[in-house]
Amino acid sequence: MKKVKDIINSATVARIVAIVAVILAIIATILVLARPRGGSGLSVTDDGEHTSVVVVAAGDTLSKLLVDQGFSNADVLEIARVLKSDADITNLRADNDKIEFVRTSPDAPVDKIVIIPSPWRRVEITCDDAGKWLCSAQDIEPDRRAVYRAGEIRDGDSFYLAGGRAGIPDGILAEVYDLLAFEMDFERDVRAGQHFSVLYEENFSNGKKVENGRVLAVQFEALRGNVKMYRFKKSDDKVGYYDENGNGAIKSLKRTPINNARVTSSFSNRRKHPVLGYTRAHKGVDFRASTGTPIPAAGAGRVVARGYNSGHGNYIKLRHNASYETLYAHMSRFAKGVVVGTTVKQGQTIGYVGSTGLSTGPHLHYEIIKDGKHVNPMTVKLPAISNLGQADKEKFLEYRRVLDAGIDLLSTHPDWFIQL
Ligand SMILES: [Zn+2]
Repeated sequence: MKKVKDIINSATVARIVAIVAVILAIIATILVLARPRGGSGLSVTDDGEHTSVVVVAAGDTLSKLLVDQGFSNADVLEIARVLKSDADITNLRADNDKIEFVRTSPDAPVDKIVIIPSPWRRVEITCDDAGKWLCSAQDIEPDRRAVYRAGEIRDGDSFYLAGGRAGIPDGILAEVYDLLAFEMDFERDVRAGQHFSVLYEENFSNGKKVENGRVLAVQFEALRGNVKMYRFKKSDDKVGYYDENGNGAIKSLKRTPINNARVTSSFSNRRKHPVLGYTRAHKGVDFRASTGTPIPAAGAGRVVARGYNSGHGNYIKLRHNASYETLYAHMSRFAKGVVVGTTVKQGQTIGYVGSTGLSTGPHLHYEIIKDGKHVNPMTVKLPAISNLGQADKEKFLEYRRVLDAGIDLLSTHPDWFIQL
């Protein structure tokens, strides 16, 4: 079977259908062949090797297992030495590591030991003709399968609640939220009846699911329009997320720095100030969050101001590029080491939510300043971090068509997956 990597732009829809069919057949075979976990077993491979498999149990040490297999003390010491020097293995972990002892016949001494210290690593120790033990370690590529989950927002739902109900795992849901937050205002764009979907990877090793992988595609029927994002690897191997037209979906700034925080006051040129009592402009957006909630930098940049004033309380201002600055106010305290001049990454904690300055309760007051003027963080068109060149864009559009066809297929067969 052809292995298709990150970019499946050479694949066709027909091939995906065929691959899905083949995979389903393979799974059925794997289910039949799967050996029960735990304990030991003996088996004979096609090339006549006799293998006994030992699953490491609590209290097992490498030397005990080797002595059980008939190794001399000298061999045990030598094997332990090459394992440490060549594979950095000093301990075995109970219930996790598996060891295979391979012989040419049932009565012959072991001439090969295979240790699987993680689902993504295989270490082989072999004995050469001169009786010298040699060790080689090899990384195992995950078997990546793309799965599809779709859901609907119901009355009173948060996106997290609806996503959980749709069977999207927590970690994937958090990533999806982070992605969508570049385009969506979860406070205002989410309504009952909206549909969303995610295509993401599940990583398998030896037919067993080990972990969730990467988010490949996201779609959300937001109020302001259908938001779609696709993960794509450019010809320079850099990976990013792009909208359906190939425009960069990861923006240089986030509209909502704190995930899942409720907007309690929007940007406005006139509003009655809750503390001062008179009407004046609100130059930012307020997000309710409890005291001590970390405040992440909305984008990569440099700290240009850090201080206290009677209105903002403890505040930090970041400069992101020639046009954009952001400001964070009412902090209870600043993050350690974040001072004027510090360079910060997008998402790096710069301080913690508080209620210092003119504030009625703990919240983050967040401003985006473009070319010296305050803009509405929820509606300002934010620049993409990376856009595609012409050649990559054509590849992307082809890739997107294939992925969309795969999504169409999975949406009618939710228990299927696509082999990547
Ligand atoms: Zn405010």
